[in-house]
Amino acid sequence: MPTTRRSAATFSNFIDGNWVPASSGKTSENRNPADTRETVGIFQCSGAAEVNLAVEAAHAAFRNWSRVPAPLRAEIVMKAASILEQKKEAFALDMTREMGKVIKESRGDVQEAIDTGYYFAGEGRRMFGLTTPSELPNKFAMCTRQPVGVIGMICPWNFPMAIPSWKLFPALVAGNTCVIKPAADTPLSVFNLVSALTRAGVPAGVVNIVTGRGAEVGTALMEHPLVCAISFTGSSEVGRIIGESCARNFKRCSLELGGKNPMIVLDDANLDLALEGALWGAFGTTGQRCTATSRIILQKGIYKRFTTDLAHRAKLLRVGNGIDEKVDVGPVINKQQMENVLSYVEIGKSEGARLALGGNRFERPDCAHGFFIEPTVFCDVDPKMRIAQEEIFGPVVSCIPCDSLEHGIEIANDVKYGLSSALYTRDVNRAFAAIRDLDAGITYINAPTIGAEVHLPFGGVKQTGNGHREGGVGALDFYTEWKAVYVDYSDHLQRAQIDRTE
Ligand code: NAD
Repeated sequence: MPTTRRSAATFSNFIDGNWVPASSGKTSENRNPADTRETVGIFQCSGAAEVNLAVEAAHAAFRNWSRVPAPLRAEIVMKAASILEQKKEAFALDMTREMGKVIKESRGDVQEAIDTGYYFAGEGRRMFGLTTPSELPNKFAMCTRQPVGVIGMICPWNFPMAIPSWKLFPALVAGNTCVIKPAADTPLSVFNLVSALTRAGVPAGVVNIVTGRGAEVGTALMEHPLVCAISFTGSSEVGRIIGESCARNFKRCSLELGGKNPMIVLDDANLDLALEGALWGAFGTTGQRCTATSRIILQKGIYKRFTTDLAHRAKLLRVGNGIDEKVDVGPVINKQQMENVLSYVEIGKSEGARLALGGNRFERPDCAHGFFIEPTVFCDVDPKMRIAQEEIFGPVVSCIPCDSLEHGIEIANDVKYGLSSALYTRDVNRAFAAIRDLDAGITYINAPTIGAEVHLPFGGVKQTGNGHREGGVGALDFYTEWKAVYVDYSDHLQRAQIDRTE
């Protein structure tokens, strides 16, 4: 069990049902980004040795777990989801303390894990395969889903419980065993999630947690020969490293990466609705969502009014410690991220964009020990500027004028990412044209770029990923291998293709 030191619990790695400290003897303190004087927990700085133990435990557990009937595996996942429901408030508070997202969003993050658990528990009694006719007489053909083996999971910090649940729940229902590496900034939520699974009855070795830095734990995990697949969510830069390593070692690999998500608002849109959507899409989770609205592409007829209103309304957003129910915008995750976001503000100014709001560290006495940034609005942004092309991952939005829907879509598509997208219009014809033409894995009509539901596929095109999807039934395609089965009941040799006489 975790032990307590200086009022913060110390967590060891969770390997084969045991608490295993890092052999390096090193730990790191996880601090609250809203107030760094608070230590949320103390976690192991692990390395290849702990990864090896965890992978071997998962490998040893695989045979028995994969033979538990899928409906029974799913019942455990169902029970874990129900435990999360009971613990929702406590786990949400932990999440706000470790990640900084405002409490109502932390509740939503836990709820997403609950929804994912219930959804994939249902798959335990489906996981449909296929039957299909054979071309030969007295021969039966079918395809079944088989588990893949040991899955390595490498997680980001921005959805501390939801994203790990997208990986763990389908993987477990499908019969795989797992080694999960939480992001260094948000390990506690993964421990909370796995505690629900353990209480629900997941056997020792089936789910293992190893904490530490990406370069050490992540690398050891992706290179381990007993790991059959890596599910990674994070930046495109790290995704490229992981993709290359997995390709070299013939591992299957799911990459869910960055975004630079556009919202197009046409002259005919319901502007009040679009404004609400823009505020939520750009500044929800302090802009630290892979699906955050980071470009607002506005048709010229409404450009001036919309940008003026946006800056005015964004100024009214309440910034502060997300534990306060009234706060809209919490801190960014850490000092490095704060400096990175502020450096993009300087880049935007030097590129000639007009800073309509914010752009500074947020100063108030109760925020002095956290990483707060003013909600920031750039106007008159050229689509080629770096602030319009690169993922900033903070409370910074760029407003770009456009002439028409076609022009808006051209701007929207002219980035290396393709995760989410949105269009505000009252014209159904233009809505369907945009659904067809926006290069993105997700398109919203009259809603912002954020707000995915767990039973639909989640992922993107271009440098946002490598073609896999989390969420929805498609997730099973990553966590299972198709097996084709032929049963010949003819009692003589039959040769496909060869036995044809004409
Ligand atoms: P990151 O790439 O810095 O880190 C992600 C994970 O990879 C962490 O656990 C980290 O420790 C690990 N890692 C870092 N270097 C590694 C290496 N060399 N080898 C192996 N593992 C390594 O990303 P982040 O800062 O945690 O998350 C933010 C990024 O994630 C953003 O780009 C965001 O868009 C993206 N994201 C994408 C999705 C999606 O589904 N498309 C969802 C959430 C976040």
